[in-house]
Amino acid sequence: MSDVAQLRVLVFNLPASGVTLRGQVSFSQLGIADSELVSCPEPVRFELQVTPLSNEVLAQGRLESRLRCRCDRCLGEYDLPIVTEDVCHLFEGVEAGEIDLTEGVREDILLAFPQRHLCRLECCGLCPGCGQDLNKGACTCTLPESSEGPWAALDGLNRLGDELGPEESRASE
Ligand SMILES: [Zn+2]
Ligand SMILES: [Zn+2]
Repeated sequence: MSDVAQLRVLVFNLPASGVTLRGQVSFSQLGIADSELVSCPEPVRFELQVTPLSNEVLAQGRLESRLRCRCDRCLGEYDLPIVTEDVCHLFEGVEAGEIDLTEGVREDILLAFPQRHLCRLECCGLCPGCGQDLNKGACTCTLPESSEGPWAALDGLNRLGDELGPEESRASE
């Protein structure tokens, strides 16, 4: 069984036992461009078994790569390995032609992209007030800044307690 390092195979060349396509292809060769949220510094590594059937050609195998993602919550960058184990494409009516797995690989690897980008599930994100990365610790936004803040109401309750006097105040505790 021979190895081929590209995603195209001439069908008439296929041995009955099939051929293994093993190699790598860049995201730009697949027509996938970097975005603000995901960049693709590494190629897609593929290992695909291409087998001739009676009237069809079956291609099965796995793809893997690593993405560089930007976290939706904290905007930090992180690496995300992606693997697709169940590549499966069937080509019909290709007795004398060539099969090209580029489009199939492109679709399969895009399906492996994450829907949400989180550096980790429990990422705390950024404070909407001051922009501090809350994974690195709390910010000062949660401390009272003025009597107009969210704590003003609690201050009012304390004052009410004072007015009731020590007796009643203790009873209400
Ligand atoms: Zn994050
Ligand atoms: Zn803050």
